[in-house]
Amino acid sequence: MTDSVPRPTITVYCASARGLDPIFLEAARHFGEAIGRSGMNLVYGGGGIGLMGEIARTAQTSGAHVTGIITEQFLSLEQGWDGCDELVVVDSMRERKRQLEERGDGFAILAGGLGTWEEFFETLVGRVIGRHSKPIGLLNTRGFAEPLWQLISHGVDHGFVRSAARDLLWMESDPQLLAERLHAAMVAPNSAVHDATALLPMHGLGNSPAPDQRADR
Ligand code: AMP
Repeated sequence: MTDSVPRPTITVYCASARGLDPIFLEAARHFGEAIGRSGMNLVYGGGGIGLMGEIARTAQTSGAHVTGIITEQFLSLEQGWDGCDELVVVDSMRERKRQLEERGDGFAILAGGLGTWEEFFETLVGRVIGRHSKPIGLLNTRGFAEPLWQLISHGVDHGFVRSAARDLLWMESDPQLLAERLHAAMVAPNSAVHDATALLPMHGLGNSPAPDQRADR
């Protein structure tokens, strides 16, 4: 991979937890390698522990420029990684999340907990409401991402979430394939048009029964 074209930057959201099943660490390492190999740079939460640490170290070893965005408070809690090419220390979690979203040309969500899920949903909602038009992919390691997909589908089935919003998401179990897919989308000219009528809940008809089918009639 030459650097004649600018390297797109991927923001990765993932776990800070330790003591995880090694399958999740392995997936993070594979995804980190794929980031560097496919010619992307990395932005992430800046920690040195959990999946965050694995992905940052392997991405950098594979050629990615690594930027961590972390709060002052979490510098010690998450062992801010001093190997980052750039470590940005911010004042608040809100600012951390804002920069994580703004600096990426696309997003990958690996296995994680509440923090990862919050970042995932905020980024997805950002795309749905037209705050950005960047691709979003879930890495589905041993089925871990499936409940997120099912929750969104549950919302679609009951008319709270538009199916077009779910269609914005990619879910892939192979780290290399997900990285390649996101990379291809990030370097392609972005022709995405924000179609509010297809994406926003208030424009949908949901699955509520037509007025003449209601039981109370
Ligand atoms: P977790 O999935 O809970 O292990 O969290 C993953 C990462 O998200 C950790 O670096 C957390 O510090 C971070 N995080 C949790 N909540 C927020 C938030 N509100 N804004 C930004 N980052 C967060």
